[in-house]
This record gives sequence, C-alpha cells and structure tokens, in this order.
Amino acid sequence: MNVKEQLLDLKPYQPGKPIEEVKKEYGLEKIVKLASNENPYGCSEKAKEAVKNSLNSFAIYPDGYATELREKLAKHLGVDGSQLLFGNGSDDVIHIITTALLAPGKNTVMANPSFSQYKHNAVIEGAEVREVDLIDGHHDLEGMLQRIDENTEIIWVCSPNNPSGVYVDSNSLHHFLKRVPKHVLIVMDEAYYEFAADEKDYPNTVALLDEYTNLLILRTFSKAYGLGGLRVGYAIGNRDFIHKIEPVRQPFNSNRVGQVAAIAALEDQDFIASYVKKNKQGLQQFYRFCEENNLSYYPSFGNFILIDFEQPGDNVFHYLLERGFIVRSGNPLGFPTSVRITVGTEDQNSELIAILTEMLSNQKN
Ligand SMILES: *Cc1c(COP(=O)(O)O)cnc(C)c1O
Repeated sequence: MNVKEQLLDLKPYQPGKPIEEVKKEYGLEKIVKLASNENPYGCSEKAKEAVKNSLNSFAIYPDGYATELREKLAKHLGVDGSQLLFGNGSDDVIHIITTALLAPGKNTVMANPSFSQYKHNAVIEGAEVREVDLIDGHHDLEGMLQRIDENTEIIWVCSPNNPSGVYVDSNSLHHFLKRVPKHVLIVMDEAYYEFAADEKDYPNTVALLDEYTNLLILRTFSKAYGLGGLRVGYAIGNRDFIHKIEPVRQPFNSNRVGQVAAIAALEDQDFIASYVKKNKQGLQQFYRFCEENNLSYYPSFGNFILIDFEQPGDNVFHYLLERGFIVRSGNPLGFPTSVRITVGTEDQNSELIAILTEMLSNQKN
C-alpha cells in the first residue's frame, strides 16, 4: 500500500502526557497536568448537569447541524447562524479548511513557532508551507504579507499565539487585513479569545466580518470553557464561504454530549469571568517568579506562559515530571530552552513555583 509520500516524514500529534501513564511510570500518587492549556477548575456545573440530563439519548445520532447550539451561539456572538461551522474541536475545523482549500501547487503562510496543526494539515494536502519567524513572540505580519503570491490560499494568524501568548493588536490587524489580497483566506485562530477579550487593543474580529469576506475566526469550547474532552470548536465567517466548505465536514462531527454541554456552558458566563480573573492572578504568580529569578518570558494573554530557563526545556520538563507536574517542554514547540506551563490554581502554581525555585537554587550551587 502506498500512503501519500508526504506522510512518511510526519509524526502523529504529540499530546501532553496523560496523567495515568505518568502515575504508573514514576510511581507517583498525585499528578498535576499543566500541559495542554486545560481549565484547572474543570467546567461549569451547569454543563455537568446538562450532560447528566442527556444520559438517555446516547443511542440517538447527534443533530449534525447543531441547530440549538448554532442558534444560541449566533445570538451570543451577534452573527447569523449561517455564519457558523462546527467541528469536533477547532482542530477539526482546521482540517476542514485545509481539505477544502489546499492541494499540490498551492501554498499557505503561517508564523513559526505557532500552533502545529496548520502546518501538519497543509503537509498532508501536499501544499507548500511558508513559515515566517516570530519577532519577539509576535507575528511578523509584514514578512507574512511578502510571502503571499497568486497560489496562496490560506494565511494563519494565531492570536493570542500558542505558544508565545501574545496577540495581534487592533491597529496592526487592520493594517494587515487591508493588504491581504482577496483570494487569500485569513484564518484568525482565537482559541484563547476569552482570556484576551478585555484588553483595550484586542481586535473585535467578529465586527470585521462584513468588511472582510475572506476572514474566518476560529474559537473553541476547549480552553476557557473547560470542555476539551467533549470536542466542540467552531468557525465564524462569511456565510457564502462557510456554505462552500460545509460539504467537507463529516455529517456528525460535533457530538450530542458536546453540543448539550456547550449550550449550558455558554449560558454560564459568570464561570468564564471568574476563571479569566483567576487566570490573570495566576499569571502574576509566574511573572513574579520569573522576575525574582531573572528568567525571560512573554507577557501572556492566554492561560499559559512560556518561560525561558536558558537550559534544555526537556530537562526542566523531566525534573517537573519526576515531581508530579506535567508541563510542556518548549523543545517540540520551537523554543528549545523554554517550557510552556498552563496556569493552574493558586495552590498548584505555588507548588510548581516552589519546585522550580529549588531546582534553580540547586543549579547555582
Ligand atoms: C488548543 C488549540 C486549538 C485546538 O483546540 P480544540 O480542542 O481542537 O478546539 C486550536 N488552536 C490553538 C491555538 C490551540 O491552542
């Protein structure tokens, strides 16, 4: 059997290590996973209740069009339901977009380092990947524009960017959008939208959809909403474009439990507001730690922080793993001397910071 040639060099996605595996491997009782930007407080109680109430409908296929979620989310966002496309997580939406637009002979422009799945899916489609290095954690929008040509189909902007945590401000985005040719789809991946939304110069991209018909926004219930395990992500865009790519979507790609939970979670905005506030306080704990230890970091507008330890990120990762904390080494993320840590609860952060402080002081002696 001959798989596509481009698959031979691809590795499957390397997720944060699962808790159970680490427990067994290291003989540890308690494990804290701060590796995949999951919500350390779980999800809204209302979402749990809604899932409990759905226990008797598992035999029935989900509503493939996610009608009720669509209506409620459209209202929440102030858009028309026809402007939404749901996915089995926004990973699935990324897959749908690349399948619909990319092919050999086409190319796609993205920042480096950024979220791995843009490149991964583009490679599978046999398209050329044009990566433009970040400047100080930020997208080099100017450099990205220069890489566009008549065969460019998609340009990806991750804001806030995973793993650097910084966002594209409103002015820069306006200036950029004006200059992207109309044949290029601009994907704004806003997986961490909820954490950055109240920054004064964080762009209101939904309001730009009327002006830019080639703009598509990605958001998810996996991060702030704490529903990563239930896989609900979505795109907001131009209705004609969404209609065109819809045939690529698998008929039941968003599942019944995910839809029910997302509807309830959406209605509990207090839960989100409270988490966003606690996340900000948690970031302060890490900033203080970095400043006390002269470590450089990017101020983060997500629920994670990338810290440069000036030593192999893999070493710091293993040190923490042996002590019951799973974080993400920056090595596979394009920052070999850094570690990406999801902001946990206040206690989890303090405990982790204490271990790191001890590690650093041992290294000095
Ligand atoms: C986590 C993440 C996603 C994927 O989220 P889903 O769980 O698939 O919805 C997409 N983009 C970025 C930048 C992410 O960090």
